[in-house]
Amino acid sequence: MGPEKLKEVIKEALKDAEVVIAYKEGFDKLHSTPCFVTTPEEADAVIFDPRCVQNLASYLPSLKKKAAVVVKGCDSRTIVQYMQEALIDRGKVTVIGIPCTGIVSIKKVMAKTGHQPILDVTFPDKNTVVVKTPKGEQKMAMADVAADKCGSCLYPTPVVYDQLVGEPIESDKTYETAYKDVAELAAKSLEEKKAYWEKEFDRCIRCYACRNACPMCVCQDSCIAESRDPHWISQKSNPTEKFMFHMIHALHLAGRCVECGECERACPMGIPVNMLKRKINQDMKELYDYEPGVKPEDKPPMFTFSVEEKKIEEHKL
Ligand code: SF4
Ligand code: SF4
Ligand code: SF4
Repeated sequence: MGPEKLKEVIKEALKDAEVVIAYKEGFDKLHSTPCFVTTPEEADAVIFDPRCVQNLASYLPSLKKKAAVVVKGCDSRTIVQYMQEALIDRGKVTVIGIPCTGIVSIKKVMAKTGHQPILDVTFPDKNTVVVKTPKGEQKMAMADVAADKCGSCLYPTPVVYDQLVGEPIESDKTYETAYKDVAELAAKSLEEKKAYWEKEFDRCIRCYACRNACPMCVCQDSCIAESRDPHWISQKSNPTEKFMFHMIHALHLAGRCVECGECERACPMGIPVNMLKRKINQDMKELYDYEPGVKPEDKPPMFTFSVEEKKIEEHKL
């Protein structure tokens, strides 16, 4: 997909939408930044390539304007989930979908360069990243620096769109291969799992970046992590309180996490915070044959109630 085609589509969308949410180059060549395009001239600065990591759909619930938004496959699931939860008015949103071959993890690229200043980044083909620093040019395999979520991507082509910019791409994964890491961790003993999460959450500094970046964390100012009345969690930096925060986060995302990976991208401590939600998603699939953010006509299981759930043997609970 050439960026010229995307610019054309954005200019066309501006005839109806007040704003188009897209990407432009950020403070250096490795970073992109979300941009809010309101004029055809601004559309000329738009880019789309593996640097475009942010989930732009996150802006929609609080935007009180008729908008268009550029989405990758994973991010498009946010739109579907918003539709299911009536958090957006679909009639006021134009979805510009882009089939996606993967994005880079900025942290992985920086680590490979030894945290050198970035002079230029190019993508000669979908498998290669070339980074220029003051120390010279470095060629990297996309597979080595891709975001973790791309390794288990089931939906490279957006699941919902008004306009698709590019040819659809099929995932080469199955549900089983995509969730292999979750199943492996789940198969460990209770003690091993406890030790794993204690080690991971020990690094948590309770900065709440994972929550703030999450498009489905919509309680905003009334988040129980910071509520003083009632006061559910203290600010103490101990394992109990950290676990409590993460359990609440995971449970509030039960059947709602669209696996956009924004929580993990935002975490400054490299904690695999999406693993818990993906485990719950796997349970949702098994119990209700439901995947968050995939079919607009679905109802999230936690939004419905049935006295006798078909796949839950209630007497054993
Ligand atoms: S998870 Fe899929 S759609 Fe999302 S960035 Fe990676 S390859 Fe693209
Ligand atoms: S928990 Fe993480 S992966 Fe899931 S929707 Fe929120 S930010 Fe995206
Ligand atoms: S972003 Fe990371 S460090 Fe911050 S609260 Fe979330 S898990 Fe903890």
